[in-house]
Amino acid sequence: MSYTPERSDEWSGGDSKNGPSEKEEHRSEGPPGMDVDGIIESTWEEVVDNFDDMNLKEELLRGIYAYGFEKPSAIQQRAIVPCVKGYDVIAQAQSGTGKTATFSISILQKIDMSVRECQALILAPTRELAQQIQKVVIALGDFMSAQCHACIGGTNVREDMRKLEQGVHVVVGTPGRVYDMIVRRSLRTSHIKLFVLDEADEMLSRGFKDQIRDVFQTVPADIQVILLSATMPQDVLEVTSHFMRDPVKILVKREELTLEGIKQFFVFVEREDWKFDTLCDLYDTLSITQAVIFCNTRRKVDWLTESMHRKDFTVSAMHGDMEQRERDVIMRQFRTGSSRVLITTDLLARGIDVQQVSLVINYDLPSNRENYIHRIGRGGRFGRKGVAINFVTEDDKRTLKDIEQFYNTRIEEMPMNVADLI
Ligand code: ADP
Repeated sequence: MSYTPERSDEWSGGDSKNGPSEKEEHRSEGPPGMDVDGIIESTWEEVVDNFDDMNLKEELLRGIYAYGFEKPSAIQQRAIVPCVKGYDVIAQAQSGTGKTATFSISILQKIDMSVRECQALILAPTRELAQQIQKVVIALGDFMSAQCHACIGGTNVREDMRKLEQGVHVVVGTPGRVYDMIVRRSLRTSHIKLFVLDEADEMLSRGFKDQIRDVFQTVPADIQVILLSATMPQDVLEVTSHFMRDPVKILVKREELTLEGIKQFFVFVEREDWKFDTLCDLYDTLSITQAVIFCNTRRKVDWLTESMHRKDFTVSAMHGDMEQRERDVIMRQFRTGSSRVLITTDLLARGIDVQQVSLVINYDLPSNRENYIHRIGRGGRFGRKGVAINFVTEDDKRTLKDIEQFYNTRIEEMPMNVADLI
């Protein structure tokens, strides 16, 4: 029989006196580690390479195929089944390899459509990502008429309350608004059986941890927990033992995290004030496709956007100081391709999926190495080609070397013909 460790008091759910339910032992007997598609450490052996063989509901399968998926990706082949079987799961996979559909399909399979109560709660770090996830859940669940509400800050509170009080099957949101809705009793937690943290390492980092704990304390104690991210640092994995029970772990070595399809380059600019001219020189290349330019501060985004506008370059900008309405407009324009070059902060480093993006520029190098992986992963979605260009000053040389070493990857000097690689 299985050993299911108790959750520590700090994280245990609040409104159920029952202890965690017993789960079957899932650990494989053989030696750990397999090397398929970059997924190298998995405590779950089964690999199902066809959606038809996953025992999914007929209407859900229809939704999956109608959405355009033919074959499950590596992470979907490994993680959907244990999620559906009810295990706690930690699923790591490279950017753009289909983690959203992994948990969305699992949720849709597990919810009881006849119960119009929230049965799955997904938390994400940004409003834009929560909205994007909502659309995926609705699209995949189209033939089941699954109701999924995005519960995010910057929107009308009364409207949120009204929607939630009517009852929806799935809620995806940012922690602050979700907690607010729980406190107001508009979001009832007693039927929630699945708790998903997308971008889990970010959600469990200092900025979010307390908020996540507040939410977690309101959900039933025997809830199933699923964590996903492209990056899963060791300290985060250690924290998970406080609120997960013997999770299935599907992990990727950090040396395998950079995608082969994404070519990485640097441009040595020597000094900060040379970056701007370098970017202007690259503009023709940028606008061949869709591009995201990352700066480290909101002020810098504003400054760079204004400077580009002054030179008559068409760019749009987005950061967390903008009104949600404006953020929505900018995202819509970028998703539809009516704007092609977007200057932003780490707000958009994680999760955002715009398939046409094939170029990412780090105008500033990111301040943490996880976000390097997430930023460059905005390009090269689901096996597409991508190019990442890093602007490097004298002071940045060291940081770039560190990134290269940490991920065991090559970042070469940008060639003259970079446009041909996009
Ligand atoms: P991640 O969360 O791993 O970064 P996403 O879930 O955003 O990646 O998926 C990246 C892209 O790949 C999306 O546009 C998604 O629609 C597409 N995708 C996911 N799974 C499949 C699949 N099985 N077949 C085809 N496309 C897929």
